[in-house]
Amino acid sequence: MGDPRVVIVGAGAAGVGAGMALADAGVDFVILEAASRVGGRAFTDTQSLPDPWDQGCHWFHSADVNPLVAHADGLGVRYHPREGFGEYRYWQKGRWLDEAGRDAQDAALDAAVAAIYAAGAEGRDVAVSELLPDMGDCNAGRRHILQLMASHDPEDVSALCYADYADTHANWPVIDGYGTLIARMAEGLPVRLNTPVRALRERPCGVTVVTDAGDIAADAVIVTVSTNVLATGVIDISVPQARPVLDALAHVPCGFYEKIAVALKRPIDMEDGVLSFTVEPDGQPPVNWQRPVGRDLQLLGHLGGTPARDLGRAGPQAMADFGLEQLTLAFGTDFRDEVQAIVSTGWQANPFVRGAYSEARPGHGADRHAAIAARTGRVAFAGEALSPDAQTTCHGAWASGQAVARRLLAEELRV
Ligand SMILES: Cc1cc2nc3c(=O)[nH]c(=O)nc-3n(C[C@H](O)[C@H](O)[C@H](O)COP(=O)(O)OP(=O)(O)OC[C@H]3O[C@@H](n4cnc5c(N)ncnc54)[C@H](O)[C@@H]3O)c2cc1C
Repeated sequence: MGDPRVVIVGAGAAGVGAGMALADAGVDFVILEAASRVGGRAFTDTQSLPDPWDQGCHWFHSADVNPLVAHADGLGVRYHPREGFGEYRYWQKGRWLDEAGRDAQDAALDAAVAAIYAAGAEGRDVAVSELLPDMGDCNAGRRHILQLMASHDPEDVSALCYADYADTHANWPVIDGYGTLIARMAEGLPVRLNTPVRALRERPCGVTVVTDAGDIAADAVIVTVSTNVLATGVIDISVPQARPVLDALAHVPCGFYEKIAVALKRPIDMEDGVLSFTVEPDGQPPVNWQRPVGRDLQLLGHLGGTPARDLGRAGPQAMADFGLEQLTLAFGTDFRDEVQAIVSTGWQANPFVRGAYSEARPGHGADRHAAIAARTGRVAFAGEALSPDAQTTCHGAWASGQAVARRLLAEELRV
């Protein structure tokens, strides 16, 4: 059997999207995946807790225009269609906020997002933090949500880049797991697991893909690894046309986002319909906790930006201790008896991901646009960072893979 015409590097959402487009076109290809599973940052963990949970993506963002919803329908993967993120509560200064307090938190966030999009529309490539007025008691909660949305601190995010994201405000949780969906979509695609790509080298009319299992002489390659993996240089890409994209994406790093997952012995005592709550201890960053739809015996805590970086570095025990401390503040010390198991993610330590998702640094929003527009010949780049209007997301990654594969077929391979 000869070498495949196209090699896709990485079997995350972008690699699966590219693979599906190549399969539709009848082109011979292979997906090389460094890890022992498909999905990348889409990963439904069925092992560490009694019930499955998504370590990475969980929500169909912009769900009413999200192309993966139709695939979930086709595959019978369940999700929960509804507006926004559901009812929430906020614990601050020793008490649960009343409706007026919660409305103030909402208003602070809405005003911040409006200011970011206004700056983006004016082409202002400034740090998001420059657009945030002092909102007193709402500052910490607002900062926390912005850290979750961008996975970076507001000081490190370009408003221009942030505002590229086309948000329809429809966010639907994938009950069976977003990782499950991507894995089901990958079924039948030619994937070689445990096969890290080491280098890409130019050759006449094509590319040599270097792996430990031997070289592949391909006509073209689609690279879908995260920008943080690209920045390490672990894949030696000595193809001159790719250099401008690599240089631009160095300014579009992945930030930090880690989850603490708690298995409960019985459901927590909270009003029906409340799907998330935030606990803000005195003088410490708040954490948003989610009660996943269909999982009454689970709580997922979300950390973004610097708090996620620091706790992630401190390791799983520190994450568990922190999570328990948070929950006992809001629910009392007896809460510890309600916990069956507690685990956490380690995205920043994962050698094949090295972070959460990407945003351009302030002053570099245009670099991301340049990387998307660049024509790099037979080595093309796809992934969440290269989605024009859905960066940071799983559906953006998938659509980017599809678009880049189709462009490669039309412009380089003339299929
Ligand atoms: C905690 C967290 C929560 C999130 N929540 C959401 C959410 O709710 N909704 C949403 O839409 N998005 C969410 N995201 C973002 C979403 O998961 C990502 O944007 C998307 O999955 C990225 O897909 P990708 O294909 O671009 O990259 P990846 O998923 O990183 O795929 C790249 C693949 O390349 C592989 N690879 C790396 N190096 C090599 C190599 N040398 N050779 C071969 N293969 C290699 C990796 O193992 C990986 O499988 C979340 C992410 C995180 C971390």
